[in-house]
Amino acid sequence: MARDPNAYKTDVWVDWCPGCGDYGILTGLTRALSKLDLDPRKTVLVSGIGCSGKTPHFINVNGVHTLHGRAIPFATGIKIANPELTVIVSAGDGDLLGIGAGHFVAVGRRNVDITIIMHDNGVYGLTKGQAAPTLARDVKTKSLSKPNIQDAVNPIALALTSGFTFVARAYAMDPTHLATIIERAIKHKGTAFIDVLQPCVTYNNIHTIHYYKDKIYKLDDQENWNPRVENPDEREVEEKLMQAMIKALEWGDKIPIGVFYENPHVPTYEERISSRIPSYFSYPPGKQKVSRESKAPAIDLKSFREIFSEKIVKTKV
Ligand code: SF4
Repeated sequence: MARDPNAYKTDVWVDWCPGCGDYGILTGLTRALSKLDLDPRKTVLVSGIGCSGKTPHFINVNGVHTLHGRAIPFATGIKIANPELTVIVSAGDGDLLGIGAGHFVAVGRRNVDITIIMHDNGVYGLTKGQAAPTLARDVKTKSLSKPNIQDAVNPIALALTSGFTFVARAYAMDPTHLATIIERAIKHKGTAFIDVLQPCVTYNNIHTIHYYKDKIYKLDDQENWNPRVENPDEREVEEKLMQAMIKALEWGDKIPIGVFYENPHVPTYEERISSRIPSYFSYPPGKQKVSRESKAPAIDLKSFREIFSEKIVKTKV
């Protein structure tokens, strides 16, 4: 029998503001973990900095609360070291698309088999609501003294053009739908991205529950909507990407949620490593010994020492 969603919750006090969309993400995530019956010892949740950064404290799996903008490289390292683990990133739009934007693009190109859940609220909530990368130009939230001077990043379009092989959007206030999207993303083989529209009730008085109420619609309810690449020929990939991009640009009276694009045919980064190092999956770095029984390092550090001592000597000269 699958574990109950509550089994994935810790007893740490959840200190997000009352009414914050992050609660919906917490619910959606625990429901998805439960549905997949993921072993907490083989699941890792990685976060950056911000309100979203607290998520691993509240979820009963391995957690790493890392540096601002660096959740993706940490998650990449964890997955490559031990490809048996299910690795999930939980981070804000400021973290992933601001300081972490380079890592966001790089992970798409690599197609590392991880899932990235973005808490998209348009503001840096933890530091009092400065404009974050998904806030459009000229929008003035109550936390800004003047309207935003910068243009917004379109997360779905950026993910599609960076090579992500699963791209979706969900709404934090619909945790049932969100849970199904997270479940699909985790099952997907490759880098999966979910842009979760997450109202920040304290600082963003524009993108509120009321704002989203009549705008959001589900792609799955559209006749003939099929985001999945069935045959990996170039023509179908192009068609599905174009279809997804058209929906990515839709924002205003209508805002689509659901899966925009899914291509399970692209080799993952781990498979690419394995094609060069055949023993990689059976003997990944995480399973290798770091020391011998004698406590001596398992790798020969002598040559490193020689190189470094030579450099030190040269520097001193
Ligand atoms: Fe949520 Fe905004 Fe409060 Fe952060 S500041 S917990 S994002 S409502």
